[in-house]
Amino acid sequence: MNDDLETQVCVLQSHLDGMISRAQKNEEMLQQFQDLEMRLLSLNSLRELIEHINDDAKRVFNLDSLSVVLGDEKAEIRQFLVEDGFRFKRYQSLMLLANTSLFKEKIGLSHRVHLGEASSVLVKNFWPENQKTPKTVALIPLVRRGVYLGCMVFGSDDEARFQFDLSTYFLERLGKVLSVCVENTLNYEQLRRSSLFDTLTGVNNRRFFEQRIDEEIMRSIRTGDCLSCLFIDIDFFKKVNDTFGHQVGDMVLRHVAEILRSQLRSNDILARYGGEEFVVILPTAEEKKGVEVAERMRQAVAAAQLEVVDKEPVQLTVSIGVSTFVVEESNTSDTLDRTALIGLADKALYQAKKSGRNCVKGGGKVRSQPSRSKKAG
Ligand code: GH3
Ligand code: MG
Ligand code: MG
Repeated sequence: MNDDLETQVCVLQSHLDGMISRAQKNEEMLQQFQDLEMRLLSLNSLRELIEHINDDAKRVFNLDSLSVVLGDEKAEIRQFLVEDGFRFKRYQSLMLLANTSLFKEKIGLSHRVHLGEASSVLVKNFWPENQKTPKTVALIPLVRRGVYLGCMVFGSDDEARFQFDLSTYFLERLGKVLSVCVENTLNYEQLRRSSLFDTLTGVNNRRFFEQRIDEEIMRSIRTGDCLSCLFIDIDFFKKVNDTFGHQVGDMVLRHVAEILRSQLRSNDILARYGGEEFVVILPTAEEKKGVEVAERMRQAVAAAQLEVVDKEPVQLTVSIGVSTFVVEESNTSDTLDRTALIGLADKALYQAKKSGRNCVKGGGKVRSQPSRSKKAG
């Protein structure tokens, strides 16, 4: 009798130990999960978000593989990530889908987590082709305001791992948190861009230009290098609007911006200054080089025709004024460099217009003294 009791106590003790150990494991899991959520919520860029979800979710959920799929109809997300230095090769689990209707078509409108065998959970559409397909998956929709942002697929090589009867509470919650994070970082990236880029032409805006020209002038003063500034104005642009309408006028602005950009190196700066005027900064370019680049741009615009549906092709020309910033040891001038530099380029542009348009005029140099440290060195 005593033995029986002892055995029962032992069994109960072992059950209890098992329950305590499971509770501890759950507690640890919950802690890790909360840490993951907190980290995701504290990230500011899309690049960091995708990198973290990839690395951390794999660890926290002990996954064999994973894919993150985001709808990217306008290739905007790709652009953000490229600009931010995202390592596409390392994170091959990221898929950017141009066809966003695929989410609704394949996953449906329930926005619930789908569990089961990889093939039956439509993983084919949301799994990178070059990656080994897992045995079972959990497909977690990423949805905000009823609209699919994408989905995340957790993969396991264990066929018993993601069974339909598994509780999906944590996965649903992670899906919701991640959806908010994706939406937030996307909004942030869009806002950041709209404060730096011109929405019509995609080149930088005047605000960015004014910030950068000061930085470039300061760099010149530090290094002693020249810097050229180009003021570009489309000739008879008003006539384009009047003849073809404003929509064609807008197309012309995009077309010209594209040609101008194609003539520049990656560290040159092109901005829309306003209306049909563009401005370029060429770091380290002397006067001769500045005029040369301007002439190349003028010729490229004059050589291209813009095809317009149901209308005659539009032929365009630009006039360009060039000014150059030079740093000279002997100089003692104390002018406000940016204003003087822009002023000279603008004057030269006026001369180009007066000379019949479709030409380049050099406006001369703005001189400045080197910085103290340079002089001392
Ligand atoms: P010029 O050869 O002397 O430069 O003559 P222009 O006709 O190019 O210059 P003007 O300053 O007379 O006209 C510029 C026009 O650009 C007037 C304005 O309506 C138009 N414009 C300004 N911004 C935009 C825009 O965003 N889209 C379109 N379609 N037109 C614009
Ligand atoms: Mg103008
Ligand atoms: Mg004009």
